[in-house]
Amino acid sequence: MEERLHKPQGITIVETVIPAPPGNSFDIENIISIEEEHRTIYNDENNLAVYIFFANRSSSNDTPNRVTLGSAYRNTSIVIYKKTINEIADSNGIDIPLTEKTTLNHELGHLLGLVNLQLDDIHQQHEDTQNNKHCRVEECLMYFETTGNRSAIASSLLRKSMVSDLDPLCIEDLQAKGGK
Ligand SMILES: [Zn+2]
Ligand SMILES: [Zn+2]
Repeated sequence: MEERLHKPQGITIVETVIPAPPGNSFDIENIISIEEEHRTIYNDENNLAVYIFFANRSSSNDTPNRVTLGSAYRNTSIVIYKKTINEIADSNGIDIPLTEKTTLNHELGHLLGLVNLQLDDIHQQHEDTQNNKHCRVEECLMYFETTGNRSAIASSLLRKSMVSDLDPLCIEDLQAKGGK
């Protein structure tokens, strides 16, 4: 966030531990009601606030083959399915922090309007026509899928030796939307 956003007054992270919500998995209604109960900070006149929930359960959309590591919803909210991230990483010998950072950075990219979320990108042609709202440049953070086939996600993480960054086209789009 510090690298890509103009925030001269700084970025503050407020961490809160909440009691583990009940249930074996979360659907979007569960995720929203947990946010409504526990979110403490919203946008105001001078500050933008982003809420990120690290979930102790998986998404209710998961199947034996398909998983969701995280998703961005509403305009300032993200859920990270931490339990799923740990499972995918552990069972494939992938670094957990790498998996978590890639997922989190990708979802932040969506909150910042990538790729072409409001049909306003200056580089319209880099939106993947097979996978809308994502980038067609394979090395780009916004190419990575945080929802998809379990083994495809694992193999794309295994190919990354470091957390992927945005490719130059996504960076230029972000700059055109006010980022840096
Ligand atoms: Zn995505
Ligand atoms: Zn890109």
